[in-house]
Amino acid sequence: MNKLEEIAYKNYSRVNDFPVVVQKFGGSSVADVERIMNVAEKIRHRVNQGNRLVVVVSAMGKTTDNLIKLAKQVMDQPDARELDQLMATGEQVSSALLSMALQSLKVKSKSLNAFQAGIETVGKFSEGRIKCFDKKRLLSLLKINEVLVIAGFQGIMNGYELTTLGRGGSDTSAVALAAALNAPCEIYSDVAGIYTTDPKLYPAAKKAKMISYDDMLELAGSGAKVLHGRSVEVAKRFNIPIYCGSSFSDEEGSYVVNEDLIIEKNTVTGLSVMNNQLRFVIKKLPTDYSLVRGIFQTAAVAGLNVDMISIIQDDDGITISFTVIDEKKKRAESAVKKALKELADYELECHSGYVKVSVVGVGMKSGVGVASDFFNALKNIPFKLVTTSEIKISCLIENEFKAAAVAALVKKFKL
Ligand code: ADP
Ligand code: ASP
Ligand code: MG
Repeated sequence: MNKLEEIAYKNYSRVNDFPVVVQKFGGSSVADVERIMNVAEKIRHRVNQGNRLVVVVSAMGKTTDNLIKLAKQVMDQPDARELDQLMATGEQVSSALLSMALQSLKVKSKSLNAFQAGIETVGKFSEGRIKCFDKKRLLSLLKINEVLVIAGFQGIMNGYELTTLGRGGSDTSAVALAAALNAPCEIYSDVAGIYTTDPKLYPAAKKAKMISYDDMLELAGSGAKVLHGRSVEVAKRFNIPIYCGSSFSDEEGSYVVNEDLIIEKNTVTGLSVMNNQLRFVIKKLPTDYSLVRGIFQTAAVAGLNVDMISIIQDDDGITISFTVIDEKKKRAESAVKKALKELADYELECHSGYVKVSVVGVGMKSGVGVASDFFNALKNIPFKLVTTSEIKISCLIENEFKAAAVAALVKKFKL
């Protein structure tokens, strides 16, 4: 065991003197029966090493996408409650199948949905937030079972309503369970860890041994779907290290840990891309900042996640630009029109076909020259909007420049 593993695996819960470990397997890891059997073999191996496992699963392959498509064939904007009822079925299928696969390997296993695991959520449909688990019940079930297979992505609101946690939310189910059970958390997907950028987009990307919660939060928030952003928030709050590895190989993965554990901090640690960005431009607004407030207030009430924003004032009045994801087009349009309904003369444009490219690094806090390097690397690429945080620079560019921008930034920051 190396030092990091020692830190990661000490003082955790035991059941019948077996250390408890939480593992999560994503959609691609359980995409078909063969892969489910592969996952079951991996779990059996771990049980034989003397662990009790709480295993969280996502729906098989593209199941959730397909369920959403089905719903949209029935109605354009499906009711959020019914959509959650539908989406939650995906994880129930995979958890039952994985539990059967384990039983076929003579592992004592039980699958549990959100009701049975007592996963309580608060918030809204499709955006549930985990409040607590029935920890006592889970620990007592682990006394008589070697493995509990839990349907990820779902929870119960107000005692009886099924909710989901937002796309990619099974990661959050796993980390929250690890926090509640005081157990280490291992997340397995189709890549062998956290890379400097998406290895499917840029195969020469380098794998990180360790990455800080803050870097991972920014990467996840700017499009790296390898971990659900909220899972990293929960891990950071409870100081739970997350191990990310591949369910298809034994290659050593990456740990997401507290910044203190990272000795050498690169200025830029990663790059991520967020596809399907829409750019709204509102021109010729009178110079009245209450209108600006009104637009963003109406957008918030409509549940819109407005991302990049620019506000410019010149002789023509105020010009506001902002981005949202493609699927929010109608909602954003009507929010702007509602906020400006008293106004006769303004121009509203909506442009599609953009991606947001971001570079991230906690080292930026103290490093200088990152912005200069960033813009130098992109010198032949036109960008429409730029935003920065203490540890991130993002720019909005047209789809056609995506590959060139990624290549230039990877080269510049040696990612
Ligand atoms: P799962 O279905 O197991 O939850 P996801 O598809 O949600 O897996 O996340 C894994 C995917 O995340 C990888 O296939 C990879 O393409 C993508 N990804 C994006 N950015 C990164 C990154 N920086 N490091 C690793 N994978 C990344
Ligand atoms: N199945 C859900 C989704 O596709 C949750 C997850 O995979 O984490 O978003
Ligand atoms: Mg995922």
